[in-house]
Amino acid sequence: SVAPLTGRVAAITGASSGIGEATAEHLASLGAKVAVLARREDRLTELVSHIEKNGGTALAIAADVTDADALRAAAERVRDELGGADILFNNAGVMLPAPIEELATGQWQHQIDLNITGLMNAIGAFVPQLVETAAERGVGDLINTSSITAKNLFPNFAVYSGTKAYVTHLSRHLRMELGPKKVRVSAIEPGIVGTELQSHVTDTGAREWLAGSRDAMEWLTSEDVAHTVGFLASQPPRVNLEQVTIMPTGQL
Ligand code: NDP
Repeated sequence: SVAPLTGRVAAITGASSGIGEATAEHLASLGAKVAVLARREDRLTELVSHIEKNGGTALAIAADVTDADALRAAAERVRDELGGADILFNNAGVMLPAPIEELATGQWQHQIDLNITGLMNAIGAFVPQLVETAAERGVGDLINTSSITAKNLFPNFAVYSGTKAYVTHLSRHLRMELGPKKVRVSAIEPGIVGTELQSHVTDTGAREWLAGSRDAMEWLTSEDVAHTVGFLASQPPRVNLEQVTIMPTGQL
């Protein structure tokens, strides 16, 4: 049988580790050509060789998603080297919980710059391709990585939660605009997934909270989320899963 994503081209941000890396591997295994974006070029190059060794097609593009020009240049490379993207997995992000009164303003800005502005830069660079390719191929997918924090409350996650509430609500609005153009828009809202995300947390209380959570339950793996992305993109063109919340069974 033909792999479900044969003929499709996916651009994946945050592909050098965690959820993005696992999703690149998985979408390639389903037959998509994948463009993998992040800053750490060595990690991307390694990922591309691994995908190619398994018979897939992949292109590494080192880019900082907070740089709109770099993202536009990346989109041009994808169009030239793989054909226009019809899947954008808009996934790069950072999570830096801390009590608001610590006034970690640099960390507030970092989360806003990456999770909101970076996400918008990828939308600005790739939506024209998604619309164009959807018109030709009959379907396109804009899949944004949100988080369960978009709707549930967690202590000291105010800024991160705010960025993810933005992602979920933005996705609903974009669905209204792009659905009629055959581009499905989805927000994935994972609970806690074991990745490098937790390693960037500096606040002691938040680090302890995370350690307690890791002891109390089995966290999701990046592959669990990757399979969800593959499931969304493999649906018949008429089917748009608008929001998918995927939780560790043990997480409240
Ligand atoms: P990781 O830290 O493993 O991955 C983050 C990715 O983003 C890396 O590939 C990193 O690559 C990339 N990135 C960071 N900054 C930039 C930048 N300025 N420009 C380009 N790429 C950048 O974490 P996850 O895989 O967990 O995170 C992926 C997404 O999932 C995030 O949006 C996160 O908020 C979300 N999420 C994660 C959950 C979890 O518990 N892990 C739960 C819910 C949502 P590089 O450093 O090479 O640039």
